[in-house]
Amino acid sequence: MHKLHIDNSFTNALPKDPIKENFTRPVTDAAYSLATPVPFKKASLIHISKLAKELGFSEEEINGEEFLQLFTGQHLYPKTESYAMAYAGHQFGNWAGQLGDGRAINLFEIVHKEQRWAFQLKGAGPTPYSRRGDGLAVLRSSIREHLCSEAMHHLGIPTTRSLSLALSGEEVLRDMMYDGNTAYEKGAVVCRVAPSFIRFGNFELAAAQGENNLLKKLTDYTISTFFTDIKSSGKEAYLEFFKQVTDRTLEMIMHWQRVGFVHGVMNTDNMSILGLTIDYGPYGWLEPYDHGWTPNTTDRQHKRYRYGAQPEIGLWNLLQLANALFPLIEDSTALQEILDNYKTNYQVQYLETMMNKLGIYHTHKDDRDLMQNLEESLHLHETDMTIFYRELCKINSKTDIIEAFKIISIAFYNFPKLVEQHKKTWMEWLESYRIRLQFDLEQSPLDRYAFAKARTQKMNNINPRYVLRNYISQLVIDEADKGNYELLHDVYKMLQHPYTEQPEFEKWYALRPDWARSKVGCSMLSCSS
Ligand code: AMP
Ligand code: MG
Repeated sequence: MHKLHIDNSFTNALPKDPIKENFTRPVTDAAYSLATPVPFKKASLIHISKLAKELGFSEEEINGEEFLQLFTGQHLYPKTESYAMAYAGHQFGNWAGQLGDGRAINLFEIVHKEQRWAFQLKGAGPTPYSRRGDGLAVLRSSIREHLCSEAMHHLGIPTTRSLSLALSGEEVLRDMMYDGNTAYEKGAVVCRVAPSFIRFGNFELAAAQGENNLLKKLTDYTISTFFTDIKSSGKEAYLEFFKQVTDRTLEMIMHWQRVGFVHGVMNTDNMSILGLTIDYGPYGWLEPYDHGWTPNTTDRQHKRYRYGAQPEIGLWNLLQLANALFPLIEDSTALQEILDNYKTNYQVQYLETMMNKLGIYHTHKDDRDLMQNLEESLHLHETDMTIFYRELCKINSKTDIIEAFKIISIAFYNFPKLVEQHKKTWMEWLESYRIRLQFDLEQSPLDRYAFAKARTQKMNNINPRYVLRNYISQLVIDEADKGNYELLHDVYKMLQHPYTEQPEFEKWYALRPDWARSKVGCSMLSCSS
């Protein structure tokens, strides 16, 4: 293998836990602890993403033994030490204390084409942070993480990436629905890659333990490595840092709202300080549009992390980060001001996102009403979010109203059951939409045809045609469990071009089949992974 440009900035800058042995314990005054992957003698790679080539690995290297050994943790790269990060977090609204990388082991960082990348194995065995867990991961959750991280990347959404998916060659015991039905499942290891895996929780741990020195070192390191445009120092720099984290977090969540992605476990330990989507667990994609939906059965009762709540949960999590950074800033008014700005910015960005999704580009005083009415209409009768928005570009100000209704009706689940009153409400909305489109056309310097063409193009770049529907993942998992990976390769191929019509994948541009409505894995997922 070619020589990697190793540059371990995190471990070089921050204090290491002095204890070398790998046993579960509270860790103080350290940002990480050493941890070595367990040997998986029969590990085998089942999928490698395009990221491998982007990071400079040749076809020959990817197919070679060394790649397999490195990215399943059987061999460490020369002169590197693998480690687990220390962090804490608020889980489902409650302080959970120390958590840390319980089943993630960091290998090293490289700099490639002036970009920093940290490599991390998920499911490679226990660490000092494993608590009661085994540090392992199963194939089903690893497929979901691998495919979804790459899908999100190709949708243009900030995310951690996934380099490779391997079978560990060993079996792992899990109680998938936490109902006492334990079973052995195939073990797997994913190699995740991101500029950094630092979370809000890393700052929370140092702050909660009163380790202000560590907190300062961690924050200074994060700023000087990843927020390089911050030129000020001291309190001013920390405030600017916090502001940029709020901006990045909001940007990420707005993307989730745009495509109907529900993270499922927005605990502060799952919030990346770089504003990357991280920790793909019981996430899901909206099929019927529903603000109240969460795929996570562990959150069934309160639905804290439901689709419609994600923006405000982002803010709640940022408040926890503000509390953690407080010892460095000691100015609650300034921190509060930044949090208040998040709310204002959300309003502005919501409007912008919705306008783009609807293909309207000139503001109008009634836009909020148009959107509010749309949100309400979408909740009347189960309507597929992806199909609805993708079809909208076929409607223009001259479309006959019956025709317009026909266009969107392919997004309705159980169309024969659509009640007359709901149809009437939809017709009213479509009428207001047509009038709105006419206004937009009149504001544009383009003629009707050029306008329509440009609008369709723009809409198709924002409203995806293919997303990783929950049942698609489950079909991939069912096949992979039997040792068939063809569907995994196919779905991965489709997800690389989510905005482009791909005739060979048109069967995936369809309503969720009825059998998937309440099947485990399709609409119900637990945190067990
Ligand atoms: P998650 O819900 O996946 O974000 O995980 C929350 C915490 O539990 C983190 O500290 C994880 O590292 C830890 N964890 C989750 N699964 C396991 C496991 N199988 N073994 C050890 N730790 C785990
Ligand atoms: Mg996590």
